[in-house]
Amino acid sequence: MLQMNQIAKVYRTELVETHALRALDLQVAEGEFVAVTGPSGSGKTTFLNIAGLLESFTGGTYILDGENVSNLSDAARSHLRNQKIGFIFQGFNLIPDLNLFDNVDVPLRYRGVSAKERKERIEHALSEVGLGSRMKHYPGELSGGQQQRAAIARALAGSPRLLLADEPTGNLDTQMARSIMELLEDINSKGTTIVMVTHDPELAARAQRNVHMVDGVATDIVRPSPLFTGNQ
Ligand code: ADP
Ligand code: ADP
Repeated sequence: MLQMNQIAKVYRTELVETHALRALDLQVAEGEFVAVTGPSGSGKTTFLNIAGLLESFTGGTYILDGENVSNLSDAARSHLRNQKIGFIFQGFNLIPDLNLFDNVDVPLRYRGVSAKERKERIEHALSEVGLGSRMKHYPGELSGGQQQRAAIARALAGSPRLLLADEPTGNLDTQMARSIMELLEDINSKGTTIVMVTHDPELAARAQRNVHMVDGVATDIVRPSPLFTGNQ
């Protein structure tokens, strides 16, 4: 699904040059659920933003879903992003003065989906995350866990091939974090590839594979799936 070879990202200002990623090699297979861990400043968000075609990079090759996306124009990059990628964030990033239905509608409007199909997709996505009865609620009327579910519905409504999550449970208590993780596992089991940045060791341990980043370089930590260890 995602193949990065020797990806480099340098942020330059007048005074400093920051090497956020240094020759990052990383592959994620279709259908995988990968957790990315590592200390603050190690390049996790930069990696996720490049993977999600939000940011360009300064060296290396990136193949997304079989297509070399290394040298795309900004317009081509955002087009592809709308087609293939769903994002969820620590702070949910819902629009406060739109109800849940309209929040989930935003990316679908960008994609030029017809009004009838949008309505079907929105209702389906919100039902999938257990918010079918909350479509007229505003984000401020919901708990943090519910807001993240709505953000997940918004990401899913576009049927993305790849779901990228940046600390999706960082603002949630343990119970809510677990229930969001269960939802992500459920989504993954239906075929969506997921890459999740997390500081939570319990959640990282539940992913099929961990990638640990230090100073802009990734190391693979392969975890046997609990399905195969026989000690369930
Ligand atoms: P993490 O998500 O692991 O905390 P980041 O990817 O956010 O790490 O940052 C990696 C490095 O790149 C850090 O040193 C950070 O300060 C730097 N960095 C990130 N974004 C920018 C930016 N827009 N401009 C300059 N430096 C940046
Ligand atoms: P969950 O664990 O499902 O995320 P909570 O137990 O936190 O939900 O919340 C229970 C109910 O209280 C929810 O149905 C939600 O609508 C309501 N609620 C929670 N937080 C708030 C809030 N800050 N403002 C308004 N309603 C809230």
